[in-house]
Amino acid sequence: MAQHEFQTEVQQLLHLIIHSLYSNKEIFLRELVSNASDALDKLKYLTVSDDAYKGIAFEPRVDLSFRKADGAGSTLTVADNGIGMNEADLIDSLGTIARSGTKAFLGRLSADAKRDSNLIGQFGVGFYSAFMVADRIEVVSRKAGEDKAYKWVSDGKSGYTIEDGARETQGTTVTLFLNDEGEEFASRWSIEDIIKRYSNHVAFPIYLT
Ligand code: ADP
Repeated sequence: MAQHEFQTEVQQLLHLIIHSLYSNKEIFLRELVSNASDALDKLKYLTVSDDAYKGIAFEPRVDLSFRKADGAGSTLTVADNGIGMNEADLIDSLGTIARSGTKAFLGRLSADAKRDSNLIGQFGVGFYSAFMVADRIEVVSRKAGEDKAYKWVSDGKSGYTIEDGARETQGTTVTLFLNDEGEEFASRWSIEDIIKRYSNHVAFPIYLT
């Protein structure tokens, strides 16, 4: 198992998100479903444009599930069978901020978290917003065309670990171990409501079991 530190900008972004977006915390699900949809789009494109991917049996879908625990221990899972990530992708994508726009954006923010919350919400904070509702996140991913799967685990504080994982097919499974703030999202009603409000435009079927 390898231990990694988040890039400084990721730590800044995590801090900002947690302190300024909490009144709008349900957007985490929109962000995760949007990532799943992007991953499906990427693989769909490859399966029609690249011979190396044409053989992949692919029925694009997003699968949501939850487990409601009596005390702590509730989980919410967002899975897709899209392009997936290998070890290098996990490090690049979930440990650093590649987009130069995000760095510039971070620099523009004031110290006034309240004033910034609207800005941040509009900007699309992505994956890291899930740390508003989870005290641990596990990402198990297998890249299309590759055999190995990897598991990325983080508490959203200073870093993350990566170890070998297991996944039958290509794609990504993101499991949120919900904190007190996130407990309310381990509910069919709540998930359906958020998906209807924010993810209606997603071009792929979304199943909730
Ligand atoms: P954004 O989606 O705006 O780029 P995110 O922080 O949400 O920012 O995600 C960072 C990157 O992580 C994505 O650009 C993508 O490369 C990768 N990623 C996140 N979720 C998934 C997923 N479900 N499948 C494949 N790659 C993903």
